[in-house]
Amino acid sequence: MLKGLFTHLVTMRTCNVCGKEKKDSKFKHEDKKTCLKCETRWYMRLLRMMVVQRQLTPIERISNRVGYMGSAFIMSSPYLLQYDNIGAYTYLIGAVLSIPQVWIAKQWNIVIVNFNLLVGYGLYILNM
Ligand SMILES: [Zn+2]
Repeated sequence: MLKGLFTHLVTMRTCNVCGKEKKDSKFKHEDKKTCLKCETRWYMRLLRMMVVQRQLTPIERISNRVGYMGSAFIMSSPYLLQYDNIGAYTYLIGAVLSIPQVWIAKQWNIVIVNFNLLVGYGLYILNM
């Protein structure tokens, strides 16, 4: 009964995970939307332990940017193929620009796809 008298003094917030209404003290700070209990569940701790926080190296960063340019070339290539086969050349440029990114990220399946693009459209240009 006494507890009911003072509820207006304590601001309450709703957790965005469990959906329960809890006191402000149950949140880490005022901008948090998830309560401490939901934040520190065992599987959340496990997930945080398994992820390594790290920054990208300069080589990774530059290869990412070049990779985006390469994928833009590859994306535009199908629409350029009908204009005097410009698309074949942009395919080659896109494959060359995309390989460093996927090579550094060790995504070997996409490295193989890009090499296949190089060989396939290289032969296409040679046979034109
Ligand atoms: Zn919660």
